[in-house]
Amino acid sequence: MKFSDSIFFRRNFLIATSHKKEEAIAPVLREKFQANVIVPEGFNSDMFGTFTGEIERVGSPLDAARKKSKAAASAFNASLVIASEGSFGPHPSLYFVPADDEILLLTDYENDLELAVREVSTNTNFSAKQVASLDEVKTFAEAAGFPGHKVILKKSNNDYSHLVKNIKNWDELQLISKLFLADYGSLFIETDMRAMNNPTRMSVIAQTAEKLAVLMNSKCPHCKTPGFDVGNIVPGLPCISCKLPTESTLKYVYICKKCNYHQDSYYPNKKSFEDPQFCEWCNP
Ligand SMILES: [Zn+2]
Ligand SMILES: [Zn+2]
Repeated sequence: MKFSDSIFFRRNFLIATSHKKEEAIAPVLREKFQANVIVPEGFNSDMFGTFTGEIERVGSPLDAARKKSKAAASAFNASLVIASEGSFGPHPSLYFVPADDEILLLTDYENDLELAVREVSTNTNFSAKQVASLDEVKTFAEAAGFPGHKVILKKSNNDYSHLVKNIKNWDELQLISKLFLADYGSLFIETDMRAMNNPTRMSVIAQTAEKLAVLMNSKCPHCKTPGFDVGNIVPGLPCISCKLPTESTLKYVYICKKCNYHQDSYYPNKKSFEDPQFCEWCNP
């Protein structure tokens, strides 16, 4: 596909971030769209919620990204803004597996267009633990990838009265841990999920940016508006044995948000029948 006839080609992109996420997002925009990437100085994305919990996020991750985008667009008079939002917790379908859930939102205020992509990855070091010894601190920090990945120390999970971040090396970690243990008998250690302190997260954001570039280049066959994306997932893949519809995906419906043009894409999982073991009629 050609990128040079895209409405995004050679535009000014403002990346609304204060955690160096542009390092993951800018390369793909420059490579594919010859973008001029601007990172505003003094943009404080932390006012919309922090990972370390001092400020709680309000609303859905997409809402949070929209707020950041609007704030940045008006503060810096930008017409094309990329905002990012990450959440961490159990994977939505794989129980007890931690996941990094990233959203990238591109808003083109000039063309009244919003493109959002989401990447849920199990490639994350997201973890936290209350510990009572230096050995436990070391074990946790090693598993977290410290010092390449940073960790945060607190008195306890929801107590922010004493919190230390940006710990540089093992000596510093040991020293600070000793003080916590002496004062409180235990400490709460957690992975620092801010992008610039978490190379694993940075790589997931880079994957999300690749996804965004694909969506930016996916145009409606009818009106050519970018962002032609799956709007509906329709179940009903027939069972190969009884031929009745199953809960498995039969088709994706691509919908243009601009002109409402619909396009069906059958068998997105590359199979036209479902195995009877997933059929509620054959295998209830
Ligand atoms: Zn259209
Ligand atoms: Zn069946």
